[in-house]
Amino acid sequence: MKDLMIRPERCMGCRSCETACAVAHSESKSLFSAIGEKPAPKKRINLEPVPDLGVSLPITCRHCKEAPCVSVCPTKAIYQDENASMVSYDPNRCVDCWICSTVCSRFTPLYHMILVMGCWTSSMNHNRKVISRQAEAGIKCDLCEGRDMPACVEACPTHALIFTEANEV
Ligand code: SF4
Ligand code: SF4
Repeated sequence: MKDLMIRPERCMGCRSCETACAVAHSESKSLFSAIGEKPAPKKRINLEPVPDLGVSLPITCRHCKEAPCVSVCPTKAIYQDENASMVSYDPNRCVDCWICSTVCSRFTPLYHMILVMGCWTSSMNHNRKVISRQAEAGIKCDLCEGRDMPACVEACPTHALIFTEANEV
């Protein structure tokens, strides 16, 4: 199954993905009309600063039904509701073992390597922040249902986001 994959080394922090995502999830699907919509359309992808690297990286969670991060978390700090429709994060249960970041299917092997090289805390902290914010708002990446290509992938000028089979990265 195809999914959105993140190639952090190509991101230049332009935030085109965030704008394209918000517009794709607006009523009008038009940038100029979406700006005035109430409620404001919500993006499902976030540019998160990773201070250890001095860069910002695009992070988005698809709240996988069979979520590997939920399966591996030893303290159930990452967990799902009854229908497995949303993944949530409880910071009080988290022991910062970082196992969850090694299994996220959206992170490419290079991203995993960056994490291993010392940016664990900041990177996965931001991933968990995105998970929490999305769960709170009841929104998640839906790969832009109805489109052949997710809007963020189409908008990214550097191909930092690609839509492909995970095993092809
Ligand atoms: S963090 Fe990654 S593995 Fe976990 S639910 Fe989100 S996309 Fe899936
Ligand atoms: S559109 Fe691409 S280059 Fe721009 S911020 Fe998003 S991922 Fe990075």
